[in-house]
Amino acid sequence: MVTRYICYPLRYFILMNNNSKKIISLNLEKNNSSLSEDEKIKQIAKHFRSIMEILNLDLNDNSLKDTPDRVAKMYVKELFDGLDPNLAPSISKFENSFEYNGCILEKNIPFYSLCEHHFVPIKGVAHVAYYANEKIIGLSKINRIVNYLSKKPQVQEKLTVEIVTYLKNVLQTDDVACVLEAEHLCVSMRGIKDVNSLTTTAEYSGKFNEPSIKLELLSMINKDE
Ligand SMILES: [Zn+2]
Repeated sequence: MVTRYICYPLRYFILMNNNSKKIISLNLEKNNSSLSEDEKIKQIAKHFRSIMEILNLDLNDNSLKDTPDRVAKMYVKELFDGLDPNLAPSISKFENSFEYNGCILEKNIPFYSLCEHHFVPIKGVAHVAYYANEKIIGLSKINRIVNYLSKKPQVQEKLTVEIVTYLKNVLQTDDVACVLEAEHLCVSMRGIKDVNSLTTTAEYSGKFNEPSIKLELLSMINKDE
């Protein structure tokens, strides 16, 4: 990640969200839609077809004619799993039998999301750390949690807090931290058209708020591979 810091020197945002519990909205318990998957695909395809028609795209063209269906299937079956509480990853926990008391950091977890303001991609990496209470989880489960929570229209600040909240609930500990670094295509391909900026967000909970522990975490994240 050090290389990426050097590659993106022009604009570098750091948003600290230590007291941002207000914006947490996991929405895991409610699913407002009573539509079946097939019905969702049918309706999205219909509306996307209308958008293409308004844009004067030729829906008889061989290359375009199936695009409404493709987009609808992609939305419903691939990009937005995070909207379905039934698809939340099941996390098995293990006793911390090694009595390991140090920090557990899973870094450079790749994620893709879609900006909820513009519906264009966000692409980044997550660094997630915790101190185990009595339980630990398999490291790949952290990847699954990041993937699940990012697969919906999102904003980076909210995603950062959601990852921490989710892990706090699973691990029954306050000692969780998450740092996200991401490129937002709504910044690079439109608006300001800045292709060099990278957004960093950080949420620290429990003992990660202690300056020495926060510093240790950041040095672990920034350490060369
Ligand atoms: Zn955006």
